[in-house]
Amino acid sequence: MPEHVDIAIVGAGFGGLGMAIKLEGAGRRDFVVLERDSDVGGTWFANTYPGCQCDVPSNLYSFSFAPKHDWTHAYPEQPQILDYLRECVTRFGIGDRIRLNCELTEAAWDEEARRWRLETSDGGLTARVLIPAPGLLSEPVLPPIPGLDEFPGTLFHSARWNHEHDLAGERVALLGTGATAIQIAPRIQPKVERLSVFQRTPPWILPHPDREVSERTKRLYRALPVVQKISRAAIYGMRETMVLGFVINPKMLKLQETVAKVQLRYQVKDPQLREKLTPGYAIGCKRVLLSSDWYPTITAPNAEVVTDRIERVEGNAIVTADGTAREVDTIIFATGFSPTDPPIARRLRGADGRTMSEHWNGSPQAYVGTAVAGFPNLFMLYGPNLNLGHSSIVYMLESQIGYVMEALRAMDACDAARVEVKPDVQDAWNDQLQERLAGTVWDTGGCKSWYLDANGRDSVMWPDFTFNYRRRVSDFDPGDYRLEPAA
Ligand code: NAP
Repeated sequence: MPEHVDIAIVGAGFGGLGMAIKLEGAGRRDFVVLERDSDVGGTWFANTYPGCQCDVPSNLYSFSFAPKHDWTHAYPEQPQILDYLRECVTRFGIGDRIRLNCELTEAAWDEEARRWRLETSDGGLTARVLIPAPGLLSEPVLPPIPGLDEFPGTLFHSARWNHEHDLAGERVALLGTGATAIQIAPRIQPKVERLSVFQRTPPWILPHPDREVSERTKRLYRALPVVQKISRAAIYGMRETMVLGFVINPKMLKLQETVAKVQLRYQVKDPQLREKLTPGYAIGCKRVLLSSDWYPTITAPNAEVVTDRIERVEGNAIVTADGTAREVDTIIFATGFSPTDPPIARRLRGADGRTMSEHWNGSPQAYVGTAVAGFPNLFMLYGPNLNLGHSSIVYMLESQIGYVMEALRAMDACDAARVEVKPDVQDAWNDQLQERLAGTVWDTGGCKSWYLDANGRDSVMWPDFTFNYRRRVSDFDPGDYRLEPAA
């Protein structure tokens, strides 16, 4: 571990690696990437559950500067995304700056030395600039179900899949019906004895338009990269139109709602079950899911959907509010993450000695999702209010990375040792965001989603076109910040 680096990046997922590649390309080689896992990849390293696939099309889900010509499917599968990120590390020569199995345990701003003091599982170091890139969906959440501690069977979260454990012939409980659960169920249902899916809120599900990419198309992309670029641009453009429905007028999502209802009607014949599977909130309020095999899976003879609330675990049985006890061998938690309470925020201490979590008090806030008042020389990737319901987060990350590069240049230009966003600039940005979010389907659609934080405020979603975000961060305005020279 070096004693001091110019820039310390935390996390080796899309954000951290993209940042490292751009620093390397700009000749800023004095950086380190700290990664707590044993490999790069971030969410695509952690999530290895069967069926794990991204719901953003392959041609859009890559760095713009590193296209991949040989995706096997129109929607990328987890092993290929992970391989892609590993290839990027090699291709851009940043591997020697990545420290694996190295978890950041605390980072505190040292006002006197004007640098960050980092403690890691691998020793301490200091850095002039800190770039946390922890990902939004990295901290698994297990619901606090009474009796769970004494469950004698196997249990694991979807993001910590137990590959040693064979589910064949077992009675399996799958908790949750989000983006993860609907991918897992079709893969495990054929081999288990019984699959009980515990649904709290039914999701809106559209048919999945996935298909294999032909060898001819792959050859075409390789020979004529511009064709893939055109496809990427077309996918990007089409997806941006969805913002109209999410942000401007949720009524514009009616067509999607109809398609989802037709699929449900066509695939689920039992009217009572269909009723249970019909969402009672506007489409788009929660993430819209893609699957053509979810309904056939949960209506298979060895599967059931349980909608009664889970009350407790008793021995090897899950007991629901109606008093039914279902004996199970394994419980799989597809119960999501804690995006509005990121653990890293409890590990970052700002200029006043308080943690970012204390500053946020349950409602994450930043300026352009990147800089946080009270935390000098810190730029966060995939920070508050940058999540999308319609397009690729890689686009947002690249926009942010460009902004951070501009910030570093501005610091160099005026020999600044300390840069901190002005609190009133950050407040104005967040007031504007909240005003815009107030009319979106996420806030008005009548659902309770993980976009809303403990205070009921949306601190997750980006309420605009993604190109507007890129335009907004294409320049670093020093007027938004307090820049203090080294002297
Ligand atoms: P999620 O969307 O937060 O879904 C969690 C599920 O668990 C929900 O159905 C939730 O019900 C349920 N749940 C939570 N606590 C429960 C409890 N105590 N009892 C019963 N059910 C409970 O998590 P996720 O499915 O892992 O997905 C998270 C995000 O990751 C997605 O929204 C997406 O952004 C991303 N993701 C993307 C893909 C993809 O690209 N295809 C795949 C996986 C994940 P409620 O709805 O009632 O809260």
